[in-house]
Amino acid sequence: MTRPVIAIDGPAGAGKSTIAKIVAERLNFIYIDTGAMYRAVTLEFLATNQPFSEELVTKIAEKINITFKSEPGCNHVYVDGKEVTEAIRSVVVTNNVSKVSAVVGVREAMVSAQREIGSVGGVVMDGRDIGTVVFPQAEVKVFLTANVVERAKRRYEELKNKGQKVNLEVLTQEIAQRDKFDSERKVSPLCCAKNAHYLDTSHLDINAVVDAILHLCKV
Ligand code: C5P
Repeated sequence: MTRPVIAIDGPAGAGKSTIAKIVAERLNFIYIDTGAMYRAVTLEFLATNQPFSEELVTKIAEKINITFKSEPGCNHVYVDGKEVTEAIRSVVVTNNVSKVSAVVGVREAMVSAQREIGSVGGVVMDGRDIGTVVFPQAEVKVFLTANVVERAKRRYEELKNKGQKVNLEVLTQEIAQRDKFDSERKVSPLCCAKNAHYLDTSHLDINAVVDAILHLCKV
């Protein structure tokens, strides 16, 4: 396996982006955060101040120009050259993204862009449907999860460190609700691919998870 596609899927707050970023750095691969792409479409939709419609969000997804720039410790995201790294993590985007990502036209546009980026290999891509839909032939597939309480605690610490005021109980409910929506939607629901390696990280630290994935890349 010289330049494989490494697909990392899992629910919100499982540590996918942290882990995927480190794995990509260690292998000198490109890292693509597909959740950031759905978030960018959601941000653009909210900026229109128009009511939600499938047509509108599909049109936005078909036109949007999303780019990434990875630096150690930060994955910058841009829409038409304008940095949106922080803006796509806002509460209002988080609370609207599942509705936007459930639209067939939005998914078609994003999946096509993701396949193009990953077509040359040497990529670590994280999301909900990478191993099932975007790259079902990916050489390495991982389903990363942790119990909801642990995931909420990790997100709580992350937001608190950024200076945001957060309530652990509310956060737990929001994460559980987003997982439910993402898992029950008709198109490309969040699920573990049949041949994915299932990793429960509830009691594992970051290094242990990174090492486990790097080990899978060698065999
Ligand atoms: O990974 P993150 O939590 O930033 O993803 C935000 C949302 O984007 C998810 O809750 C899900 O609705 C959507 N998503 C998706 N498919 C992906 C990645 C993310 O539907 N491959």
